[in-house]
Formats: sequence, structure tokens, C-alpha cells
Amino acid sequence: MKILEQRIKKDGRVLGKDVLKVDSFLNHQVDPELMQAMGEEFATIFSDEKIDKIVTVESSGIAPAVFAGLALHVPVVFARKNKSLTLPENVWTADVYSFTKQTTNHIMIDHRFLSAAENILIIDDFLANGQAVEGLLKIANDANVNVVGVGVVIEKTFQKGRQILDERGVRVESLARIKGFENDEVIFL
Ligand code: 5GP
Repeated sequence: MKILEQRIKKDGRVLGKDVLKVDSFLNHQVDPELMQAMGEEFATIFSDEKIDKIVTVESSGIAPAVFAGLALHVPVVFARKNKSLTLPENVWTADVYSFTKQTTNHIMIDHRFLSAAENILIIDDFLANGQAVEGLLKIANDANVNVVGVGVVIEKTFQKGRQILDERGVRVESLARIKGFENDEVIFL
């Protein structure tokens, strides 16, 4: 998606070898017009699928997921990160190791918000090592819902997330694909 690539070029900052900071339009401050355009793009890409619901993880997945939900006219559920040690009842859970924060989050979705046989589209901000999406796939499996695909805003193709999801036969569509960083410049695929 051209406008997203241009925005990454203009405002993205490369941190170390493998992290891209995009907090001026996606991860801290949010650009609603760009989010809306991305939501419409996801809706177009997945227009051949029957989608009942969008599922993401708090907090950075919420903005693109909500705009995809708006474009597709479906509700959006975000998995919450559980901070307390005691788990509430009636939730599906998964453990997700965060590559950027180097901590494990326990994510959960209340049973009321996923029903067996529903068709869900997973949306997230980044695909790196695939841990966040794998956590959502585990929850989807436990909840007996059907995952029609995964929509990612920014995919880093040099990390292993894409390969893991391809091997599982999951359809993955990304709006921007980054193959690497050179001298702090983003190189797109
Ligand atoms: P994964 O689970 O695929 O390893 O990583 C996905 C999650 O880690 C994303 O939801 C995102 O929050 C975070 N993440 C991974 N790589 C990056 C990155 O380069 N920049 C930012 N801002 N977040 C990232």
C-alpha cells in the first residue's frame, strides 16, 4: 500500500537491527485517515471471504482492527492482556512472548465474544516472529472458530512469523512488507 510505505519512509525510525518505530501514526499517536484507508484496504483484500468478526490484541492492533471492522460492518474483539495472577472465569487464554518487550503476556478473550463456527479475521499491527498471531490462533482453536486469514499492517519478512503461518496454511496479507533495514533506511519487498 503506497501511502503506508511513504508514511513509513517519512516518519518511521529504525531501532537497532530489527525494530521499526512508528509511534507517530500507529503505536502511540494514531492517524485516523491513514487507519481508515488501511481498514478499507483490508476490506477489499478480504472481500472474497465471509467474515463475522475481527479479532486483534490490545493495544496497537485496535486502531487498524476497528477501521477494518468499520469497512466490513462487523464487530471487533480485542484480546486483553491479563495483568493479575488470578484468571477470571469463562475466558480463553494464550501466552504470548513479546519480541519487542521481551516479556510474556497472558492474553484472554471472554467466552461471550466468540461463538463456535464464527468466521474471524485476525488483524495486527506488526508481524515479526508470529507469536501474537499464534496466541490468537490458539484461542481461535479453543473457541472452535474459523480463521479466514490474518491481515497485518507491517510485515517484517526477515523474521520468522510469515514462515510459521505459511506452514500452518494460514492466509496472511500485509499492507507493507519490509525485507530489511540498511543504514537506518527501510527496504521494502
Ligand atoms: P510477533 O508476535 O509477530 O513477534 O510480534 C508482533 C507484535 O510485536 C506486534 O503486535 C507488535 O506490537 C510488536 N512488534 C514486533 N515487531 C515490531 C516492530 O518492529 N516495531 C513495533 N513498533 N512493534 C513491533
